[in-house]
Amino acid sequence: MASKVPVDVGLIYEGERIRKNQMYVDLAGPKSFGAELVRVVPMDEIDDGKVFLEGPDIGDMEEGKAYPFGILLEVGGKSMEEDLEGVLERRIHEFSNFIQGYMHLNSRDIIWCRVSKDAAKKGLTLKHVGQVLIDLFKSEWPMIEKMQVKIYTDPEATTKFREAAREVYEKRDSRLRGLRDEDVDVFYGCALCQSFAPQHLCTITPSRTSSCGSISWFEGRAAAKIDPNGPIFEIPKGELIDEVKGEYSGPNEVTHEKSGGTVDRVYLHSIFNYPHTSCGCFEAIGFYIPEVDGIGVVHRDHRGTTPFGIPFSTMAGQVGGGVQSDGFVGMAIEYLRSPKMLQADGGWNRIVWLPKSLKERVLDAIPEELRDKIATEEEAVDLESLKEFLKKVDHPVVSRWETEAAEEKEVETAPSVPAEGGQPVMEAPEIQAQVQGIPLPGSNVTIIFKNAKIYAEKVIITRKGKN
Ligand code: SF4
Repeated sequence: MASKVPVDVGLIYEGERIRKNQMYVDLAGPKSFGAELVRVVPMDEIDDGKVFLEGPDIGDMEEGKAYPFGILLEVGGKSMEEDLEGVLERRIHEFSNFIQGYMHLNSRDIIWCRVSKDAAKKGLTLKHVGQVLIDLFKSEWPMIEKMQVKIYTDPEATTKFREAAREVYEKRDSRLRGLRDEDVDVFYGCALCQSFAPQHLCTITPSRTSSCGSISWFEGRAAAKIDPNGPIFEIPKGELIDEVKGEYSGPNEVTHEKSGGTVDRVYLHSIFNYPHTSCGCFEAIGFYIPEVDGIGVVHRDHRGTTPFGIPFSTMAGQVGGGVQSDGFVGMAIEYLRSPKMLQADGGWNRIVWLPKSLKERVLDAIPEELRDKIATEEEAVDLESLKEFLKKVDHPVVSRWETEAAEEKEVETAPSVPAEGGQPVMEAPEIQAQVQGIPLPGSNVTIIFKNAKIYAEKVIITRKGKN
């Protein structure tokens, strides 16, 4: 490493967690704000190797506080192209976490960094952080001929930078909106999050951008072209198994291989049975609400609770880590704009709850007739008030309740013993059955039948072993 920094830098620190009692300061995160951005710029606009800081550095900050934080990486090189910006941007997470005593979470305008007391005591500065990033990016990507870093901690400068960054994110995301899964021959895979979620693989398609929202299909294509053996690679689509659910043999096979055989099937556009795995970097979580047979979506910025009474952070802890949780899925906010968004489950017709700020952000993607029918925390704070609201506005899921109620009634009115008066083939005070597929995170569900009587049309007894 060319730069001299007062703490160690290396891959071994990537998984380092800095707990609250070890924290010197937080940068951006839930108690403040910020953003990160990579831009490819003409080489004559870059003062190579320089780090600029606008606002206080770590040593000037008060212990225990959270500060605004923006970081802009400007890179140049003859073969650099704009499509690579998102890919490089995602590596800020990985490379920042190489710095001992410095932790980086999330992406884009929801980043959250933390500096440990030890690192602050040793004299780590934000200029050091910028220098480390320059060294690591240049050594990993020799095509970067020049690079400079601009860091903002002044509140006004950070606000201005965050607005500019949001415009760039929007421009990148909107490029993809006209393209669909069926328009392309290949998808892309990203295994970057396997360092902390070993079973997780993002399948990036035009209709389903990466869960972190940072790598679109275009960016996946640019990264795979430059480094086909890197963490972002091509996935052949293979055979189309189910168009509505978004199941293809190619992603199934690659996910099976990259997840160490733990995940065999992936539905790109459904929350049920085989949803996309969730790492921990997702911008939002889709969650099934059995009580209303609808789906809610909560994003990372939402500080309150969901109708389940738990906040985003608790839910993220249950569904993250690379697991496939039936009824839950991590997603990018941009996925809510996809015409295929959870299409197998009913798409927008099934969405019943969104935080107000998220609803406002994606309002133009919500079909006009549904805009007033989707509850926010203002209309529904728990399952009871959600149910009341949906009934009042006649949300499309209400008609599902009526169908379900009719089916239940049919079951209730069915004779409890065979019409011809048969005898039960088995009676037991208690039978337990393990059931998979009920959308509760974390574990399977056990159903207990009390005083059970089992009737059967035919009983077949087979003997195992000899004969
Ligand atoms: S969330 Fe997906 S696309 Fe984003 S870095 Fe992780 S694996 Fe890659």
